[in-house]
Amino acid sequence: MSKEQILVIEDEQDILSMVRLRLESRGFVVVTAESGELALRWLTEHKPDLILLDLMLPGINGLEVLKQIRNNRNLAKIPILIISALGEESDVVVGLELGADDYLSKPFNMSILMARVNALLRRSQSDQKIEQKPENKPNNKPKDDSNDFIVIGAIRIDTNRHHVFVDNQSVALTSTEYRLLLTLIASKGRVLTRNQLIDEAIGNESIVTDRTIDVHLASLRGKLGSSRAMIETVRGVGYRFKF
Ligand code: CA
Repeated sequence: MSKEQILVIEDEQDILSMVRLRLESRGFVVVTAESGELALRWLTEHKPDLILLDLMLPGINGLEVLKQIRNNRNLAKIPILIISALGEESDVVVGLELGADDYLSKPFNMSILMARVNALLRRSQSDQKIEQKPENKPNNKPKDDSNDFIVIGAIRIDTNRHHVFVDNQSVALTSTEYRLLLTLIASKGRVLTRNQLIDEAIGNESIVTDRTIDVHLASLRGKLGSSRAMIETVRGVGYRFKF
């Protein structure tokens, strides 16, 4: 099996070399680019398994790089993990809306970086399997899989394939957003605290702050479009799904 290749787009040398060292020690092949221009040029001829993208770059910024990658059909499905500096939360929300899969704020812990990288690679591999072999579902499942859809108002969720539709338009949620949505729906209108959402939707493998949850929920709401108001903020407590 070939080693997985990770493109790291980052202009800060210290971070670049730490990340490279850690990823290489885990057996990944690392390619680095110190600007968006260099990265995009390299991407015209290569297709890495995952991209780590710093938002604040010299020349064209990370969000523009992200947009160009997602608009390229050949690259559109590569998992992208944004790396942001403190105070860039609004850019992170835009990044998640533009199709980044997850984000980490600097300064970050290398173990958390590795956990996120591994989680994204696992998900991307299982997505590819589903796409390649749609017929390979367990045989004991009925042919009519209408039971595997959750429909609430304009929101329809295919729980087999983890696809979400709003007003019949497919919506690309990150895995965290998908789990948050299902957790909120499963709570049947009860208010969930940020801690409950973190425990149930993200789990203990990552260290997550209240603000992180708010950022993911802001992005999720943005993607729900006409149904965004179904996720209600309960001031001082948390969030609730309004049926
Ligand atoms: Ca930077």
